[in-house]
Amino acid sequence: MPDGWILAAACGLIAGLANVAGGLLALSKRGWDRVRQSHLVAAGAGFMLAAVILRMTPESYRIAAAHPGAGIKVATLVLLGYLFVHAAEHVLVGHFHFGEETHHEHWVEPVVGTTVLFGLLLHTFFDGVSIGSGFLVKPSLGILVAIAVFLHKVPEGFTVASIMTAAGRSPRAAALSATWLGLATLAGVLTISLWSGLVRYALPFSTGAALYVAASDLIPVVNETKGIKMAIWVFGGVLFFYASDALLAWLGF
Ligand SMILES: [Zn+2]
Ligand SMILES: [Zn+2]
Repeated sequence: MPDGWILAAACGLIAGLANVAGGLLALSKRGWDRVRQSHLVAAGAGFMLAAVILRMTPESYRIAAAHPGAGIKVATLVLLGYLFVHAAEHVLVGHFHFGEETHHEHWVEPVVGTTVLFGLLLHTFFDGVSIGSGFLVKPSLGILVAIAVFLHKVPEGFTVASIMTAAGRSPRAAALSATWLGLATLAGVLTISLWSGLVRYALPFSTGAALYVAASDLIPVVNETKGIKMAIWVFGGVLFFYASDALLAWLGF
């Protein structure tokens, strides 16, 4: 295994546990303060968007630069990563969005819960691949990507448990589905750590996947809320990224 895989796996595990925590929050009687959840989604969207554009994309080009014709290949992989998550969440699945599932009329068929879970498992696997790929390039990239992933993990677990409940599944099955998302994240980290030679493909592909999560899963949830408060949380997430990046540089990562 490559250097730093234990730290990468630990980050994957923490992110996975956040999935479980989100699932349990969705099942708890009091539910979860919807406003606070959307603040987390907004800040997570800003942080992840910054991580994708400022770090993951340039690093994807940098590590591929030694190979002829790398530019278009990297760009193609980013696009494929984006389209892959779109296909997993919206082509295979009838109805999906981040956040609490309140459209019970869509959920007559319990099988829909299973297809949503399958789509999210593919998404969370690449959450893990992006963390592992980041650590393979350099520790600071791994940590930044791990924070970006961590910030949307609680809402993600919340989403899947809420959808399973709306699809008529038992609380136990709903909690289990959030646990599966956590395990898929860890599996993604371990997979790219085992096959680290694939990082020059895995990093751009998971960059595209992360772009989808930030810009097409999380930002639309932010946009549903009226007023500028939510937008300010997005900018707060971006500032948090710059602060984390500067702090890591200052600490010598
Ligand atoms: Zn819905
Ligand atoms: Zn995710």
